[in-house]
Amino acid sequence: MAEAKKIAAAKNMKKIMADHFLGVDAAVKDPKRKVAWCTSVGPAELLQGFGFEVYYPENHSAILGSIRKATDYIPYANAAGYSPEICSYLTADVGAFLQGYTPLTRAYGIESVPKPDVLVYNTNQCRDVQDWFMWYARHWDVPCLGIETHRNVGEVTSEHVDSIAGQLKNLASELARVAGQPLDMDKFKESVRLSQRCSELWEKVLRTGTSKPSALTFFDGTIHMGPAVVLRGLPVAVEYYENLLSELKQRVDNQVAAVEEEQHRIYWEGMPIWGKLRPLSEQFLELKTCVVASTYCNSWIFNQLDPEHPFESMARAYTELFIVRSDPVKEDYIARMCEEYQADGILYHDARTCPNNSNNRYGMAQRLSDRLGTPHLVIDGDLNDLRCYSEEQARTNIEAFVEQLAQGR
Ligand code: SF4
Repeated sequence: MAEAKKIAAAKNMKKIMADHFLGVDAAVKDPKRKVAWCTSVGPAELLQGFGFEVYYPENHSAILGSIRKATDYIPYANAAGYSPEICSYLTADVGAFLQGYTPLTRAYGIESVPKPDVLVYNTNQCRDVQDWFMWYARHWDVPCLGIETHRNVGEVTSEHVDSIAGQLKNLASELARVAGQPLDMDKFKESVRLSQRCSELWEKVLRTGTSKPSALTFFDGTIHMGPAVVLRGLPVAVEYYENLLSELKQRVDNQVAAVEEEQHRIYWEGMPIWGKLRPLSEQFLELKTCVVASTYCNSWIFNQLDPEHPFESMARAYTELFIVRSDPVKEDYIARMCEEYQADGILYHDARTCPNNSNNRYGMAQRLSDRLGTPHLVIDGDLNDLRCYSEEQARTNIEAFVEQLAQGR
């Protein structure tokens, strides 16, 4: 069985993620500290400016998916009235909570997900995050605050940016009441600066996939994105990506391939299938095919952040996101990525419970294939609910797709 090449920088990952979860747990137990829950592309930098310890439930739910526990807990949320058709991050996380389960117990001895003082969402990715956070807000009787983002945005205009920046400023006033102190502007700016630096490094890490052969795969990206998601705005994420980048640069200089004898290069559009990353990665290794890039891993690149204009640049960064944009903008983006990464084809993951990250449903796959002259494959699945995924069918379809790529050479 082919095995993915180890990346040495990953050795630090366990420790920094442990420190993150233990840090949030310690804050819950310390009456002088406050905890905020934040959506994965929510206003983390602002929360750090108030000194909140920040926790990201999407990351927790992705862990449930990765250890293949999510499917077991989804039915408990369904029984509480949350449909099996809605976000399986939400249903897995709420279902596990209803059953008193968290993987943090086994991993770190943490009894429960942290009780928040406030939950803060941004609907830039979807409405599900708002419903998810509201469930916990009702459970604990704590405030749930948020930013309501424009959707389907073509060109991002100053009106868009001003309206979101205005919401961020109002949010800051409300957060000051929860925090019991005003926003520390220096801390806020520093968080924006570190977040921008983290993002810049993360982008450089991902771009080592443009080398031929590629220095990393989408599957590596799903592992190494952790600090960009939960630790952006903090020095530890910057250090992590400096190390990782220097290791990957060496790979590029020495022509070290992430996939031995790389023959084909694919772009992954859509969510990861968290519980099946390993078998998928192994299948692509066997097929000498590298999944060189993805929209998903790129979602944590926020280079627009600027510490001199923290509110406005956050508003821009979190509105220029792929998921917020109209189909023509998304198509141009994917086309550009496929060209830059020299992808021979695109694999779309149609995630049953996440229409927001399934871009194959309105003809985009066909339009892009026509435009780029490259084939595509759609695989049905889900991010967390493995009942929606047939491994056998996906395996066969991927094999046939790679065969098609080979014939097209
Ligand atoms: S974007 Fe999709 S996966 Fe993420 S929270 Fe929303 S519905 Fe769930």
